[in-house]
Amino acid sequence: MEATRTLRELSCADDYDPDSLPVDRARALIREFLAPVTAVERVHIRSALDRVLAADVESPLDVPGHDNSAMDGWAVRFADLGGKAETILRRIGESFAGKPFDGEVHAGETVRIFTGAVMPRGADTVVMQERAREIPTGVAVAAGAVTKAGQNRRFAGEDLKRGAPVFRAGQPVRPAELGMLASLGIGEVSVYRRLRVAFFSTGDELRSVGQPLATGEIYDSNRYTLYGMLKRLGCEIIDMGVVADVPELLERAFRDAADTADVVITSGGVSVGEADFVKELLAKLGEVLFWKIAMKPGRPLAYGRIGNAHFFGLPGNPVSVMVTFYEFVRDALLVLQGRGNVAPVPMFKATLAAPIRKAPGRTEFQRAVLSPDGAGGWQVRTTGDQGSGILSSMSQANCFIVLAPETGNLDTGAPVDVQLLEGLL
Ligand code: AMP
Ligand code: MG
Repeated sequence: MEATRTLRELSCADDYDPDSLPVDRARALIREFLAPVTAVERVHIRSALDRVLAADVESPLDVPGHDNSAMDGWAVRFADLGGKAETILRRIGESFAGKPFDGEVHAGETVRIFTGAVMPRGADTVVMQERAREIPTGVAVAAGAVTKAGQNRRFAGEDLKRGAPVFRAGQPVRPAELGMLASLGIGEVSVYRRLRVAFFSTGDELRSVGQPLATGEIYDSNRYTLYGMLKRLGCEIIDMGVVADVPELLERAFRDAADTADVVITSGGVSVGEADFVKELLAKLGEVLFWKIAMKPGRPLAYGRIGNAHFFGLPGNPVSVMVTFYEFVRDALLVLQGRGNVAPVPMFKATLAAPIRKAPGRTEFQRAVLSPDGAGGWQVRTTGDQGSGILSSMSQANCFIVLAPETGNLDTGAPVDVQLLEGLL
């Protein structure tokens, strides 16, 4: 995918307002600049879990490989069955799943057969066992037990024909795909190489876990949430630690990160005041746009390129980091990983179980708990205080309530859009 315009061209466009960029617009703009990885590796299918297929996969076999029975019963020749009367057939053997009958069924004969067992030669139809009974002289099939030839029989290749496309390049490998690959006897696949993501936290006040805290210092939690979110997306992670707000140190960190990674993510240092010197620094190292997204939390966001790497400068507040990651970075990483058809996170409606306060103007992502309403539907209430530093709100929440910019206060009972966090986290 070639970028259709440069970041510089974008920043000169008439309708582009970096001081109030709607969420959808920012997401779409980022998409314009993403070129997926192209390098490919061959891996055992187990190692392909959570990776993305880099080549189409065709079925090397017919699935199922042979005509077989869809149920336990009797393999018969349809032409043998009398129309109105019971038919007596001679039992000549059995066909088990994995142990086929190797003779042939001739006129007037039947073979006991079990689900998944290969259809014996000569037989074309299976009578379910409830419609037949064994008698001293053979097997009595009830009148009308089957109505057409081929009934209760699965045909070779009815699931997949040999040579048929099974997966397209861009398909993420999940447990179902692993099972399908195994069912076709495929032990190795081509996948795109993992995306390399480097990240660091900025801030003089930050200390790493294991260090003592002086007054006013806090532990760096963003590197841990980022680690978790990136790990879940199957990225190769380069944790560069905490970098103090010192221009020389920041410059070195940005350069090192961009040299080794496909994507560089930082937290902190992009809000007003701090942004000024980071802005200058990044203008020198690459092309970076500083945006005020019309959203809450997560207002300041920087996006651009440093060398060949994509750069996301996330806000410092712990909740803002997670919200901006899920709303912008996740989507972009999926595209960069080579996934086809990256769809927006699905939203559905739930009913407010308590009122919500909101000022019109921005998209809000309120942390909330979704639960059954007892009447077959779903209700949702916020976790309480929505401050962007309150990380426990993310831990308590199982969803975001997504409130459109024009929305104001809402009463109990109002329908709202909800995005589930499970499956993303
Ligand atoms: P900043 O965007 O750098 O102004 O940071 C905004 C707020 O988030 C400040 O209160 C910071 O102390 C806090 N913060 C920044 N980075 C981190 C971090 N890595 N872990 C926890 N809190 C942070
Ligand atoms: Mg800071």
